[in-house]
Amino acid sequence: MSFFKTLDVNDTNDNKSAELEPAENVKCLIIGSGPAGYTAAIYAARANLKPVMIQGMEAGGQLTTTTEVDNFPGYPEGVTGPVMMEDLKAQAERFGTDIRWGEVTSVDFSKRPFNLIVDQKKPFIAETVIIATGATAKYLGLESEEKFKGAGVSACATCDGFFYKEQKVAVVGGGDTAAEEATYLAGLAEKVYLIIRKPYMRASKAMVKRVENTPNIEVLYEHNTKEITGTNVVTGVTLIKRKGKADEKEVKIDIDGFFVAIGHKPNSDLFKDYIETDEIGYIKTIPGTSKTNIPGVFAAGDIQDSIYRQAVTAAGSGCMAALDTERFLAEQE
Ligand code: NDP
Repeated sequence: MSFFKTLDVNDTNDNKSAELEPAENVKCLIIGSGPAGYTAAIYAARANLKPVMIQGMEAGGQLTTTTEVDNFPGYPEGVTGPVMMEDLKAQAERFGTDIRWGEVTSVDFSKRPFNLIVDQKKPFIAETVIIATGATAKYLGLESEEKFKGAGVSACATCDGFFYKEQKVAVVGGGDTAAEEATYLAGLAEKVYLIIRKPYMRASKAMVKRVENTPNIEVLYEHNTKEITGTNVVTGVTLIKRKGKADEKEVKIDIDGFFVAIGHKPNSDLFKDYIETDEIGYIKTIPGTSKTNIPGVFAAGDIQDSIYRQAVTAAGSGCMAALDTERFLAEQE
């Protein structure tokens, strides 16, 4: 199928095509500007692939919403997420990456070269595409959660757990991520409350066992979050126990940090008509490579990784995608 039925860049008889700017031919188009996208850009630019990067709506990706990054190799004193992304950007530009504002709004991967449109008006004809659009952490949608983002509310224990040494934290969610985050935090914090809305955990048996065997984790089954409380930073959370039941009651606990671990949404909707994903939407790659089901389209970073989701693993997979792209283009010549 083709999104380009009405937006065909080569179809001058099509009225809508008149609204489009002239198409640009590129060897390697990188979609997304997190650690995966920038690392792919650094390698692709140094290999003379003249990459063009479309930054996306959240330039710099998820890391721009975090504070200190202490676990990215090469920064012995740590670095803030936004500064690290500026460094990566500068490094990609140093080798000639052409970085553009904008968002890819439609794609046609039915034939090579691939057709893509940015901001509904700028067409690109790309010999290869690297998808590095990342994933977005899901939040509960509470007003108080929004208020304390970066001031006690986080969606990444590995990123922010360190700041809660010997303190009290809560993790919300009952899946593998929540179980993993809770056990990770239990190694740092004095006490971890695991807030689960159902009477059981969805996580794998092994993870449930780990949680149960960790003495400083207290599991609160059948609890829903009503409100995160505090003045400038988080100091507590109000929960509703057995919501909607006859014995429903409000529970208040004191905490210093509130971690949301209710899943991520991979940003793959735009590609789903062409690119194979798992049931959640993570792009499937051929194991050990960045290759998708479409030759010439590669995926890197959180868009294809539901397990590790770290800046450094994303960067590593960005490098793989650029090397796979380079080899693919060499084979075509
Ligand atoms: P999941 O979708 O598996 O779990 C999400 C959890 O959050 C569920 O317990 C769900 O509750 C809960 N939840 C969702 N919305 C709300 C809400 N509004 N309020 C309260 N709770 C809510 O996501 P995960 O990120 O945990 O896992 C995603 C995938 O990644 C899974 O396949 C998992 O196995 C995999 N994974 C594997 C790991 C590993 O192998 N080491 C590590 C991490 C993830 P409910 O159950 O009631 O729907």
